[in-house]
Amino acid sequence: MSKNIWNDIEKTKTMEFSKGYIKYLDLSKTERLCTKYSIKLAKEAGFIEYDKNIKLKEGDKVYLVNRDKSVIFAHIGKDDILNGINIVASHIDSPRLDLKPNPLYEDLELAMVKTHYYGGIKKYQWTSIPLSLIGTVVKQNGEKIDVSIGEGEDESVFTVTDLLPHLAADQMKKTMSEAFTGEDLNALFGSLPSDNEEESVKDNIIKLIKEKYDFEEEDFVSAELMLVPAFKAKNVGLDSSFVGAYGQDDRVCAYTSLKAILDLKNPDKTSVCYLADKEEIGSMGSTGTKSRFFETFIAHLIKSQKGDYNELYLKDTFANSKCLSCDVTVGYDPNYKSVCEANNSAYMGAGICICKYTGARGKSGTSDANAEFVAEVRKIFNKNNVKWQIAELGKVDQGGGGTVAQYIANLNIETLDCGVPILSMHAPFEIASKADIYMGYLAYKAFMEN
Ligand code: MN
Ligand code: MN
Repeated sequence: MSKNIWNDIEKTKTMEFSKGYIKYLDLSKTERLCTKYSIKLAKEAGFIEYDKNIKLKEGDKVYLVNRDKSVIFAHIGKDDILNGINIVASHIDSPRLDLKPNPLYEDLELAMVKTHYYGGIKKYQWTSIPLSLIGTVVKQNGEKIDVSIGEGEDESVFTVTDLLPHLAADQMKKTMSEAFTGEDLNALFGSLPSDNEEESVKDNIIKLIKEKYDFEEEDFVSAELMLVPAFKAKNVGLDSSFVGAYGQDDRVCAYTSLKAILDLKNPDKTSVCYLADKEEIGSMGSTGTKSRFFETFIAHLIKSQKGDYNELYLKDTFANSKCLSCDVTVGYDPNYKSVCEANNSAYMGAGICICKYTGARGKSGTSDANAEFVAEVRKIFNKNNVKWQIAELGKVDQGGGGTVAQYIANLNIETLDCGVPILSMHAPFEIASKADIYMGYLAYKAFMEN
């Protein structure tokens, strides 16, 4: 039987939905930009910034932003918050090349920048493609300078060079993990000499930075500048049934879960959409899912509604809460069938995919959702005509991975992974099926409405 759902869903709506998503991808290439644009969309849907001096009531829609890199949206429901909340959680950081704290150097009279890759990448995929430089520089006085070079039609881009095949005999003999080292990922930054003959090419670049962006070389130290693919999100395929873009892991789930909470009407349970940072490097830090930020915001929601607060309120709320960890999974790829097992793989265009567990080496590093909760989610999806499938993250002992699910489950919250299958995951150009994207939206919405 065909797993392909295209003939069972509303094609026009599905195609239409991806247009907003494509725009979201183009405007959200870093966690800071994604936070900013997500808040803009939420404000248009009536969300306001949370204010602890205002008592929250049913129907209120608020958000709290964490250090410009992560944000939580909440829609207050009818039910007492202590009876639990419905959470959809995704992450908005993606693999990329970060500039090192001392990035600038000159070699062979070329200005170069050194990078340190962020997240799991196949390094060769990041050479000889156009890259944009995006990020924020914070000066000693606290002033913030936003940098974005490469996104506009006429703007310069950057690139990490690769070796010509003619001279690559030695390189080609190496394994893929040895052929490119992290220290080889240096990007071309400029070559114009200064008018002043005593100054180097690098000096001239520093002068240009000062003129155009008003910061000094030392300011690189307190900056978060990243090189990300410069190309735009595209329709893919003769029938335009896929979206191809940078950063779909996990902005595909961020967008669909955000759209779902923005479109919610009078939910019974308080619904929460969490867009987290730092998943690709282990969810650590003040803006990652392991941060107390999430708990703190929920504590505020409780205090604001109950009038008072104690720790047991928070713990009871968590114990009664439910979460979909919205993160992408591996799509079953005709070119790489051997790493997946056909009966437990996520087919492209076969619907949103639930993963009872992720992890590696015998389910290590996963929360492994409770069967009772999987049954509950399955029922919600079936009742609401959400097309879904279930899969594992590749064959047993082939490798593996994790998501934010385990960290939320550790709070004593029922949590299940549920996301869109992706081809070429973590590559500069990732592929998702529009049918699965739209089903993600319907799935997250049905879950929160329940
Ligand atoms: Mn992910
Ligand atoms: Mn990832």
